Amino acid sequence: MRAAVLNAYTTTEIGGVVVVGEVDSPTIENADDLIVRVVGAGVCRTDLHILEGQNFGERPVPLPHVLGHENAGVIEAVGAGVVNFAVGDLVLCYPFLTTGLDHAERQGFEHHVVDRSTPGINAPGGYAEFLKIRERAAVALPKGCDPIEYAPLADAGLAAFRACRKAAEVLRSSDTAYIVGVGGLGHLGLQILKILSPAKVVAIDVRQAARDLALRLGADAAYASFAEAAHASINPPKAVIDFVGSEETLTSAIDGIQTGGRLELVGVEGRLDIPARLLVERELTVSGSLVGTYAELLELTELVADGRLEVVVTKYSLEQVAMALTDLREGRVLGRAVLVP
Ligand SMILES: [Zn+2]
Repeated sequence: MRAAVLNAYTTTEIGGVVVVGEVDSPTIENADDLIVRVVGAGVCRTDLHILEGQNFGERPVPLPHVLGHENAGVIEAVGAGVVNFAVGDLVLCYPFLTTGLDHAERQGFEHHVVDRSTPGINAPGGYAEFLKIRERAAVALPKGCDPIEYAPLADAGLAAFRACRKAAEVLRSSDTAYIVGVGGLGHLGLQILKILSPAKVVAIDVRQAARDLALRLGADAAYASFAEAAHASINPPKAVIDFVGSEETLTSAIDGIQTGGRLELVGVEGRLDIPARLLVERELTVSGSLVGTYAELLELTELVADGRLEVVVTKYSLEQVAMALTDLREGRVLGRAVLVP
């Protein structure tokens, strides 16, 4: 099959190290295996981190490697024990492949299972014609839908959903919440927060096109920075959901958030250094959010199926993989970049 193979780490030119070529197709080995013909594979900032050789767990991802942890497509083959899916079904791929036996998973947190397999991270991913997953990781999509529209839900949408659900717990109708970064995650997050909470939602992004998108998708206001929002007499946020996580956005969030407020962190670009006294005196909650659970992905998928959540995608062919990754790195993608193998 054709796949985009990462052959070396790079912090500069991507074109020479991610190369489309022929690799072995995955095959059914276990009774619960599913082979999915990939229709859409989302391009994530985590892919850029892998590309740069940053550590995942204890070490960089071994090469050669096929990226792509945000996948949707059509079932091509099923193992002998698969009961809920058949060849031809459309599916969204929950990113973590687990057994169901781990203690964390029995409590409903499959994303906390330590020895999980994650296609695109520590197993071959979806930047390819075919992808192997397990039946328990498949989410059925509506018949006749376009899987490309659903692919970004598997990680971008799910991470946004979980963070917004946690932030919504502290939000009342008189509150304001800030969404920081209107990219692949943030453009979904602001819509999800409008559904899950009664608060006013303010989008923060340095890019004019991203702010325009935020307003079109229902944000109550959009500004380039916390300072600009404060200058416009926007209420200080009760909750901030930071999809960037840079030193600058984290500092703005901690300085700007109301006493008793909550910072929900999804972006991982920087470091957070907070005096203990400040956290105590202002009773702030700082919380990390990692992707999400299978059950949350089901809930999220229904929002799109019901037409309540718009997924904005910029499509690239498999051959345009380097362009897609470069555009993401340079901040040129509107919504989520999706490879169409
Ligand atoms: Zn990701």
